[in-house]
Amino acid sequence: MARYTGPVCKLCRREMQPLMLKGQRCMTDKCPLKEGASHTKTKKYPPGPPKKRRTKMSDYAVQLREKQKIKRSYCLLEKQFRRTFHEANRMKGVTGDNMLSLLERRLENVIYRMGFATSRNQARQLVHHKHVTVNGKVVDIPSFLVRESMVVMICENFKQNPFLEGSIMLTKASESVPEWLEVDFENKSGKILRLPVRADIAADFNEQLVIELYSK
Ligand code: SF4
Repeated sequence: MARYTGPVCKLCRREMQPLMLKGQRCMTDKCPLKEGASHTKTKKYPPGPPKKRRTKMSDYAVQLREKQKIKRSYCLLEKQFRRTFHEANRMKGVTGDNMLSLLERRLENVIYRMGFATSRNQARQLVHHKHVTVNGKVVDIPSFLVRESMVVMICENFKQNPFLEGSIMLTKASESVPEWLEVDFENKSGKILRLPVRADIAADFNEQLVIELYSK
């Protein structure tokens, strides 16, 4: 599946928010958005030519930036993100909540949330390289949607990998596993206790702006 392969810090700089796209390498001294970063090449301004005059953003620009922020946080391209939105729109309930729930349920995101990878890009690679099973079967589709009671596990041949051990150590230290997931770090597996709801997603997203943008 297609994916963005350009410089990821540029995406954060465009939104002027740390989207944590480099995993454990984020928010180090080289991060351009870290307060007080000492690296000489840090660029604390959006990419592109400098604006001569600061103008107020239009409603469209505000909606577009919010959509880009959510899309880039989940490492999706426009087509994939739009498809998720339309699927959420067809479901019962609040479209914005449905959309975020669908994004959270992607297998690559679940691996990241469980703490088996330090970024969604790293989690996507784990899935692509067939290191992940769902209910005992290898699944190599990052967009696979997990359902309640499913068991996600890292394959035997990858369980001793130092990157995996490193991610698990960081996750244990930060206690960042969300409540809708249960993780067994010893077995390198996890279970979906229930489907995620809006309250489980701590990120500062305004999904209503995305609905307004796509409803034009
Ligand atoms: Fe974003 Fe991480 Fe780069 Fe900082 S280091 S700009 S948080 S990707």
